[in-house]
Amino acid sequence: MPNNSEKHFEIDSHLEYPVENIRESVFNPQSKIQNRDAEVIWHPFTQQHTAPFAIPVVRGEGAYFYDDSGKRYIDAIASWWVNLHGHSHPYIAQKVMEQFGQLEHVIFAGFTHEPAVRLAERLLGILPENHKKIFYSDNGSTSVEVALKMAFQFWHNQGFTRKIKVIALENGYHGDTFGTMAVGAKSGFTAPFDPFLFDVIYLPVPVKGQEEAALKKMEELMADSEEIAAFIFEPLIQGAGGMVMYEPEILEKLLRLAKNHHILTIADEVMTGFGRTGKMFATDYLTEKPDIICLSKGLTGGTMALGVTSCTQLIYEAFLSDDRRKTLFHSHSFTANPLACAAALASLDLTEKPETREKISRINAWHQEFESSLTDTENEAIAEIRIKGTILVIELRTEEGTSYFSNIRDIAYHFFLERGILMRPLGNVIYLLTPYCISEEDMRFIYGKIKEFLALFTSGKDV
Ligand SMILES: *Cc1c(COP(=O)(O)O)cnc(C)c1O
Repeated sequence: MPNNSEKHFEIDSHLEYPVENIRESVFNPQSKIQNRDAEVIWHPFTQQHTAPFAIPVVRGEGAYFYDDSGKRYIDAIASWWVNLHGHSHPYIAQKVMEQFGQLEHVIFAGFTHEPAVRLAERLLGILPENHKKIFYSDNGSTSVEVALKMAFQFWHNQGFTRKIKVIALENGYHGDTFGTMAVGAKSGFTAPFDPFLFDVIYLPVPVKGQEEAALKKMEELMADSEEIAAFIFEPLIQGAGGMVMYEPEILEKLLRLAKNHHILTIADEVMTGFGRTGKMFATDYLTEKPDIICLSKGLTGGTMALGVTSCTQLIYEAFLSDDRRKTLFHSHSFTANPLACAAALASLDLTEKPETREKISRINAWHQEFESSLTDTENEAIAEIRIKGTILVIELRTEEGTSYFSNIRDIAYHFFLERGILMRPLGNVIYLLTPYCISEEDMRFIYGKIKEFLALFTSGKDV
């Protein structure tokens, strides 16, 4: 770490403020909320000791939200990958309010309601044809927990007591609960909990050049397939792991191997669902379909907490029995909340509009255009650029060394924030994952700022 300090300084000297002062730089003495927040709130994924004061947001509209000083931010990461159609969308708001006047919530065991049934019908209409049942929960992590429990109990109910192992891709992210941490990558984030996480067999991510290695490992693992319950993966893009991409062809091969050896396949589409990759679901790029699919984030257009785990009829039927112990004993208080279902139905209406589909392909075209507009000097700062559907990923060239590495993340975050753009780099990876409603003008503004950042980055560095 100490030998990197010089580099810190080089980079810092190109900024208007030293990184140490970032905490103060966003502090607004006029904002009483910031002080009150600091007194009582513990924020997620936040080192409260060093993190800048939280920025109070008072209003959202379209691709923008506004803080209490009136500053406008373009939400270039769709508020952690959830927002599809813009903030405070009037159509979704209207549908949720109508539902509130009718029924806000009811227990979902022994009772049902129109929004939940209608949403399940519509989802099954667009999910792969082999999917026949919808199980509701209330966020992405729980949708994955349910998927894992379904898979384990599917085998348990049929007496396959040895089928208790899971294959997962290296570098994956499936949530922050214990089961989802177990199947995700182990890292500094999970270290305090590693002793409590069940063992998982990891497969290399089949990125370009690694396809054969992944396939070979999968083939080797098939020798013990009678011990393996499921294979879980983020299809085509690993989000939190750095927006790492791989091709449908290799996933197809892995899925086929798993299926041929009676291993259930779980596609975690929590981030990729609802048009992000250019198709409605990432699994729409495949002919071999997974047995279980997890959805959340964009499900309600990013307005309310809702999770869905869909599965095949075969899985569903393994839980049907006169023996009550074969029940899927999983439930959350707010399972299938009618307001969230109403929001999801409204969001689907918007997603299925021809204008939205058109917008999704237009965003992709803008990204491609941006990529080809990069100069040689700009490209020097870039290790790799990746585009899939509406997602643009720029992996910055960095030296080895972790503290230098994380510093770039902070510098990039504050560089864009100061310019009214919310980006949230993953280490040295900056990416755009905007609401679909973003205007061409705003996207071009962001591209311009990215170019400014790349210039700053190359000039502050001995390349
Ligand atoms: C965000 C995410 C999750 C977890 O969803 P939460 O709603 O944050 O619990 C799971 N899987 C993937 C692929 C995600 O991107």
